Amino acid sequence: MIRACRELGIESVAVHSEPDRDAPFVAEADHSVCIGPARATHSYLDIDAILQAAAQTEAQAIHPGYGFLAENALFAQMVLQQRLAWVGPPPSVIRLMGEKDAAREAAVAAGLPVVPGSDGIIPTLDEARVEADRIGYPVLLKAVAGGGGRGMRRADDAASLETAWNEARREALSAFGNDDVYLEKYLDDARHIEFQVLADSWGNAIHLFERECSVQRRHQKLVEEAPSVALTAEQRASMGARVAHAAAAVGYVGAGTVEFLQDRRDGELYFIEMNTRLQVEHPVTEMITGFDLVQAQIRIAAGEKLWIGQDDLAIDGHAIEVRINAEDPDDDFRPTPGEVTRFDLPELDGLRVDAAVDAGSKVSPYYDSMIAKLIGWGADREASIATVRAALGGLQVEGVCTTASLQDRILAAPDFAAGDLRVGVIPGVD
Ligand code: ADP
Repeated sequence: MIRACRELGIESVAVHSEPDRDAPFVAEADHSVCIGPARATHSYLDIDAILQAAAQTEAQAIHPGYGFLAENALFAQMVLQQRLAWVGPPPSVIRLMGEKDAAREAAVAAGLPVVPGSDGIIPTLDEARVEADRIGYPVLLKAVAGGGGRGMRRADDAASLETAWNEARREALSAFGNDDVYLEKYLDDARHIEFQVLADSWGNAIHLFERECSVQRRHQKLVEEAPSVALTAEQRASMGARVAHAAAAVGYVGAGTVEFLQDRRDGELYFIEMNTRLQVEHPVTEMITGFDLVQAQIRIAAGEKLWIGQDDLAIDGHAIEVRINAEDPDDDFRPTPGEVTRFDLPELDGLRVDAAVDAGSKVSPYYDSMIAKLIGWGADREASIATVRAALGGLQVEGVCTTASLQDRILAAPDFAAGDLRVGVIPGVD
């Protein structure tokens, strides 16, 4: 975000918590404001503290990033009430898409295919039994307020429904303060494919093709790539057009992602949710389109009309992103906070590095353990795999343990090389 601002000639202000005082992003921004102590509820989630920092630095706009308050409708609303520009969609759209059952309904109304499932919230276990029988096992109970893979439980048969019901609701209540759930058919042989959309505040919308994010651990993405090997050009163009049309229909503004599962048996795509923010994996889209999504978000928030049309976009080559977390993959992904004493990467053609740390940085135990993303571009998929593997091979991190070795194992696996991906299976591991 800071880089995009700089290229647009806009000064940036980073807000940070006390333990992040020396983080590279704070040094890179033109200005910075400490908004509170380590605990996120007292800093990164403290709306008043962020608005105060904006007032104090006379900021004109707020970009919410992709964590914490990025999909918080109340935050968006309060930003707008302060007469600041909000880099994101209108609060009403964030709210709509934030409730998965309402989002499902909106998707249906906008003409998108959805996974077979219940019509809205299921109030009782008895009704869940009836719905599950109607839809057919296996089924997935999903929290309407869910996110980050939480509040989701699978039931393979009637006998396991009660446990799944109790667990999904308990987790949803503790994570989101809302234990409403609904039911979807569990697609047990599927790819995760998502479309990037971009809409202006004038009713124009385009898509920037798809990303495939089937390589996941516990429903969290590990490796993302664009384009997907599993879409035909016709499918890409026709679903892309439907998604752009749907975004315009719900009054979407800015960058958003419409997520689908693709049934591997027949190749059909089914909507699962929309994320109303920039995603962690947006760089793969930027690398195959040459289009800067963050700059676009900012220009759209400033009220600009879309300056490109669908026909101006084309896919150039292939890009793959791997997430590097400060975790020990050999010890059940235990987070390994501490001081990074060395952080070196080779310089390679086609390699983009988005890193949150450098040598001397402290990885705090308070937040997400992702410390860097390596994104490799190549003229084709094989070349992009080679770029990322060369980067992983040359990556030298000392002081904290990382998931780099796991990522290399995945990229080296024959199934990954063949593009034979499915949710629930980690190539080279499972
Ligand atoms: P979250 O908001 O928690 O990320 P999503 O609805 O985006 O939840 O789903 C996250 C992941 O969960 C998907 O990428 C997929 O792996 C799995 N998933 C979600 N819905 C289904 C389904 N109906 N069948 C099989 N897997 C699913």
